[in-house]
Amino acid sequence: MDTNLPVVVIGAGPVGLAAAAHLHERGLPFTVLEAGDGPAASVRQWGHVRLFSPWRYNIDTAARRLLTEQEWVEPDPDVLPTGAHLAADYLQPLADLPALKPHVRYGAQVVAVTRQGMDRVRTAGRETAPFLIRLTDGQELLARAVIDASGTWTTPNVLGASGIPAHGETNAAPYIEQALPDVLGTERDRFAGRRTLVAGAGHSAANTLLALADLAVQEPGTSVLWAIRSASPARTYGGETADALPARGALGSRLRAHVESGAVELVTGFAIHSLAPDGDRVAVSDGTRTYTVDRIVAATGFRPDHGLTSELRLDLDPILGSTRALAPLIDPNLHSCGTVPPHGVDELAHPEPGFYAIGVKSYGRAPTFLMATGYEQARSVVAALAGDWDAARDVRLDLPETGVCNSNPTADSDRIDADAGGCCGTLAAAPSGRGLATGISGGLLTAPLTLLPVLGQDSVDGQHGGGCAC
Ligand SMILES: Cc1cc2nc3c(=O)[nH]c(=O)nc-3n(C[C@H](O)[C@H](O)[C@H](O)COP(=O)(O)OP(=O)(O)OC[C@H]3O[C@@H](n4cnc5c(N)ncnc54)[C@H](O)[C@@H]3O)c2cc1C
Repeated sequence: MDTNLPVVVIGAGPVGLAAAAHLHERGLPFTVLEAGDGPAASVRQWGHVRLFSPWRYNIDTAARRLLTEQEWVEPDPDVLPTGAHLAADYLQPLADLPALKPHVRYGAQVVAVTRQGMDRVRTAGRETAPFLIRLTDGQELLARAVIDASGTWTTPNVLGASGIPAHGETNAAPYIEQALPDVLGTERDRFAGRRTLVAGAGHSAANTLLALADLAVQEPGTSVLWAIRSASPARTYGGETADALPARGALGSRLRAHVESGAVELVTGFAIHSLAPDGDRVAVSDGTRTYTVDRIVAATGFRPDHGLTSELRLDLDPILGSTRALAPLIDPNLHSCGTVPPHGVDELAHPEPGFYAIGVKSYGRAPTFLMATGYEQARSVVAALAGDWDAARDVRLDLPETGVCNSNPTADSDRIDADAGGCCGTLAAAPSGRGLATGISGGLLTAPLTLLPVLGQDSVDGQHGGGCAC
C-alpha cells in the first residue's frame, strides 16, 4: 500500500472533523469529503434544536488543542448549545483552521467505496490495493484507508411499523416531514392552524411535540396528535429527574405535562399500516383506527446506509448494522442508558483492513450515540492508522461513570419505577459504563407491542386478516 496516499474521511460532521484533527496531529495525509456546501451539514439541519449535553462533552481533545493555538475562545463548558451554535462556534472554526481547511472538500458526495480493481470476492492482493472512492460527479480518489463518518441523518426510518414503508407512504410524501422540522421558526407556516401527527417515541419526537404544543398556544386551530407503537410512553418520558443530563430529563417531564393536560393527544399501540391522501389532508390508519391530519412528522429514527460500502467486506451485526463487537454494548433491546464501555479500533474493525465506520453511523440503528463516544473512536482509529497500537488500545471516555439499569418499564405504567432504583440503582443487572444515564430502566425496546391481524391476508394460509370479509 502506498503510504503517501491520504486517509479519506467521509463526512465533515463533528466526528469526521475530529478524525481530521487527529490525523493532522499524527502527521498523516488526509482528505475529508463532505456532501454539503459547508461543515456540519446535517447538524445545521437540526440547528434550532438544543443539545442535551453541555459543551464540555461536545468538543474533541485534538480539535480543542488546534483551536486553542489559534486563540479560539472556548464556549462555557456548562452551557447547552443548539445545533446551530455547535456548528457556528465550534465546527466551522475547526474546519476553517489552516491545518484542516486545505484538506476538506465540500460538495463532494461519496457514492461508493471499493478496492481499486477488485470487487468484494477477490482476495489475492486485497490488503495492498488502495481504496477507490467515487463521488456523485464521477470523480474518483485513491486512499490508503477510509474512515466513514457520514452519519445516518440522510437515511431516516420509514413510517411503516414493520420496517418497510406503510401502504401508500410513497404517495403520501407531500404530507410527511422528516424528523425535527423547525416548527417555531422557518417552517412555522406548515404547522400553524393545522393538525399534525407525530410518529415516534425518541427525543426527536419529544422535541417536535413540545414545539407543536407551544405553537398551539400561539396559533388557534393548531392541534397535536402523538402516535406510538408501544402501550406506554414511559420510554419517551425517560428518567425525568433521574436523568444524568437534566435537559434531557426535562424534555420528558414537559411532554408528560402536555399529555396530562390534553395539549398533546396520545395514541398508544398505534402501528402505522397505511396512509391515504384525503383531499388536502392525509388519513393514517393502523388497520382499525384512522386519524385524518394535515401533516405527519416521521420521528421514527435513522438507519445506516451500507449501500456505499457494499463492495467491502463488512462483518455487520444482523440486528443493528454496527460491527458485531460493538452491538452487544449498545443493543436497545438490552440497554437504555446511553452508557457504553470505552471502545475503539478493536471494536470497530471489519474484515476489510483499513476501513472503519465511526460516529453515529458506527451505532447502526441503535439510538443512544453521544458525540464524546465518537471522539474517542476517532482518536483510537487514527492512532491505529499511525501504527501507535498502545495509544489505539488505551481507550478512555471522558464521561461520568453512570449506574446501571435494573428494571423494565411495564406496559400499563407510564412511569419509571423509582423504587427499583431507576437507572442508577443498586440492583445491578448489567455492568456500569461511561456515559450519560437516561434514567430509563431496562432495554429501550422491551415494552410490549400490540400486534394487529394482517390486513388483506389470503385465507389460504389460515391467517384471516381484520380487513377480510370472511
Ligand atoms: C436532534 C439531535 C440532537 C442530538 N443531541 C446530542 C447531544 O446533545 N449530545 C450528543 O452527544 N449527541 C447528540 N446527538 C447525537 C449525535 O452526536 C449527533 O447526531 C452528531 O451530529 C453525530 O455526528 P457524526 O459526525 O457522526 O454525524 P453527522 O453529524 O450526521 O455528520 C455526518 C456528515 O457526513 C456528511 N455526509 C453524509 N453522507 C455523505 C456522503 N455520502 N458523502 C459525503 N458526505 C456525507 C453529512 O453531510 C454530514 O455533514 C444528537 C442528534 C440529533 C439528531
